[in-house]
Amino acid sequence: MDASLISISMCSLRKFLGKFHFYTLLFIPATFGGAFCALFPKRVKHLQHTAIFQALIESLLLHLNPLSKLLASSVSLQTVIFMVCSAVILEGKQRKWYNGFWFLTPDAPTDPDVPPQRKSCSHSELDCGLYIVRGIRNYLIIGLALDVFRYLVSSSKLNQWSLSHLNFQSTAWLGCYVGLYRAVHCYLQSIPIVNESLKHPFAGCLGGLSYFFYPKLTILSYALLEAIRTLSSKNHKTGESKKNRFGWSDLLFPLSLAYLIHNYVMEEQRVSALSGVIIDSTTANYARNISKRIARLQ
Ligand SMILES: [Zn+2]
Repeated sequence: MDASLISISMCSLRKFLGKFHFYTLLFIPATFGGAFCALFPKRVKHLQHTAIFQALIESLLLHLNPLSKLLASSVSLQTVIFMVCSAVILEGKQRKWYNGFWFLTPDAPTDPDVPPQRKSCSHSELDCGLYIVRGIRNYLIIGLALDVFRYLVSSSKLNQWSLSHLNFQSTAWLGCYVGLYRAVHCYLQSIPIVNESLKHPFAGCLGGLSYFFYPKLTILSYALLEAIRTLSSKNHKTGESKKNRFGWSDLLFPLSLAYLIHNYVMEEQRVSALSGVIIDSTTANYARNISKRIARLQ
């Protein structure tokens, strides 16, 4: 749908202006095409917005300005940002500010009516150790499924089935993430002097340390997107946001899509590899074909 709308806009502009210009070749047609996405069903729109906004953040992180250069080269800085995002997202999910996908499900909130001296963990397991071990086991299985799936997809694409390509990074990361988060949260529940409202965000933040062992800009850009969404949902009144069919994201989406497609064709190195895959699927390979034609003309 996006692809056909973009190509119709391209041809119309070409007819109207007499020839292709730098920005009327892709940027303006892609903005027009992307604007129609606002009319799609909410779920489809949410998926498209997630893919494009995440690709945009990741591509911006790859830019060569000093700030993104520093961020892209410093795993410690990335980890700090991920820790903050992790705290915001897990807190937002626990308080039901926002219900987007996140790798971890937060612990249930503790009963606010129980006095702080008698507060205990909200999990059903009697032993905290068992709760932590169960969490690690479950998330190791999820991570393993993800790693095997990625191995199967990349191997079938390259038609190379060597087991040396199979790595267990997601498995290790998810196990470490849930282990740290649950251990810190359970430990803090046993300390009554720590402020109740800080315990959960602090656990979410320390859980984010796991990023240090598995640094991926794709994960960081997704975390940034979800943290922004969580904070903006918090500031909206729930009833109001449910009623609103259109929001700021409908305005930002066409511009982000246009920016990515334009740069993908004109300066491919400015967009990430994942952005390339997303743009190809959004435009039914149209952008890639135009890019090839331009390369042939040069
Ligand atoms: Zn516990």
